[in-house]
Amino acid sequence: MAIREILVVPDPRLKLVSKPVAKVDDKLRDLMDDMLQSMYAADGIGLAAIQVGVPKRVIVMDLAKSGEAPDPRYFVNPVLSDPSDNLEPYEEGCLSVPTVFDEVERPDRIKIKYLDYDGQPREEIAEGMFAVCIQHEMDHLEGVLFIDYLSRLKRQRAVQRVKKLEKDKSREDAA
Ligand code: ZN
Repeated sequence: MAIREILVVPDPRLKLVSKPVAKVDDKLRDLMDDMLQSMYAADGIGLAAIQVGVPKRVIVMDLAKSGEAPDPRYFVNPVLSDPSDNLEPYEEGCLSVPTVFDEVERPDRIKIKYLDYDGQPREEIAEGMFAVCIQHEMDHLEGVLFIDYLSRLKRQRAVQRVKKLEKDKSREDAA
């Protein structure tokens, strides 16, 4: 396993639409292992493959609270359907938009179909935090970021903030 670099805005690759996975094989499992490790290293709860530069429809997630045992989850070729009419606001963040948090409204309940780590088809109902997270990650597969739901001004501010953060970081690395 290896920790991969997580892309941040305004990297144009984050705007790509990811392609379906043809087969869940060992090579794909290697990618999922790397993604999970990279997500844990960055203190995240969800990660889409495009965030490590791979435009495939793959998501990893772990919603275990601190102190609880790890609960890694893998979603290959996920498809959402039957969203609830009820929308709930939730303060979201994203490893590709570090240090920025803002409220997004999404359906609070949604159905998800996907292939798991072993390539087995699964179907379940996502609610609460799981519903928020899976919809956020699904957006990545379509090249959409949570800041795209915010006003243009807020979105520009978010990107500027990340640019400055990255500049400060590279300056520190060089020092
Ligand atoms: Zn994200």
